[in-house]
Amino acid sequence: MPEPLPLDTSHRWIHGSRSRRHRTDPDHQVEQLAAGTVLVRQSKDLTYEAPFVLLLLGRERALLVDTGAVPGAGLRAVVDEQVDAWTRSEELGGIDLVVAHSHSHGDHVAGDAAFADRPRTTVVAHDAASVHAFFGLTAPDASAAPAAPDAPDAPDASLTDASPTPDASAPFDLGGRVVDVLAIPGHHAASVAFHDRATGLLHTGDTVYPGRLYVEDPDAMAASLDRLVAFAEEHGVRHVLGCHVEMTSRPGRDYPLGARYQPDEPSPFLGVEQLRRVRDGWAAHAGRPGTHRLDDVVLCVGNGVNVAAPLLARAAVERVRDAWRQLT
Ligand SMILES: [Zn+2]
Repeated sequence: MPEPLPLDTSHRWIHGSRSRRHRTDPDHQVEQLAAGTVLVRQSKDLTYEAPFVLLLLGRERALLVDTGAVPGAGLRAVVDEQVDAWTRSEELGGIDLVVAHSHSHGDHVAGDAAFADRPRTTVVAHDAASVHAFFGLTAPDASAAPAAPDAPDAPDASLTDASPTPDASAPFDLGGRVVDVLAIPGHHAASVAFHDRATGLLHTGDTVYPGRLYVEDPDAMAASLDRLVAFAEEHGVRHVLGCHVEMTSRPGRDYPLGARYQPDEPSPFLGVEQLRRVRDGWAAHAGRPGTHRLDDVVLCVGNGVNVAAPLLARAAVERVRDAWRQLT
């Protein structure tokens, strides 16, 4: 295994303006983490979600993970500029673009329409079956009889069975750069992780990031956290990156839901040790409904009133504080 390219994780990220009447943030912060590895953050002045969007560039195609929380052409312009700069610097005639998603919640797909008419571009559909089929995460149906070798019309089981499989992972080749794609349902049925072999970066979407980890399917989440840790250990993952930052730099303390100004954010990057702690914390709480505070994340299990009520109460207080900031 060649040494991964070093990744620059030292950037200070935009985190909202104290008052949106005097904005200090650009709409998008665009940083090169390594050659052909671009991380973009959307401003909290545009959307409180302030998601991170990852662009990985290869010699034949680029992979965009998510289109952010804002409709419109802003992110498209950023991506076009980065792809052009890459093809020029690498002296490539031009490359394809695959627009995929960590999962299909609205703050990850809102910019899709701006890519629909882009030349040489495929926008992968959002549902789990389409995502699994596109990346080849569909295990052949074991119960299907093997097709006779002289029966060319026999359906290919790997194309027809699009159900998620527990150990599914598949390589996706960008040309001189391979990304492993893993099915990690739990936060969402269509959640997938992306592992960039070139840099040792594991992108975990909204499944693991320094913030509130909302869980739709606790059993699937437990299995996915185990899979992520096993994968990270086996493949020598160097950095874990999700799509948001909601924690403060105080262990176990998050910003309120909907916060538009987060001056005390930690880095969006986690290490494998922190990923292990999330997995162990999950196991310790056995996926019980409720809010469980760990140092690096807050586990939000279930949609019950004991999860939603405190979140919404803090969000309401934050809205008043935010309104006050706009006046001062
Ligand atoms: Zn999200």
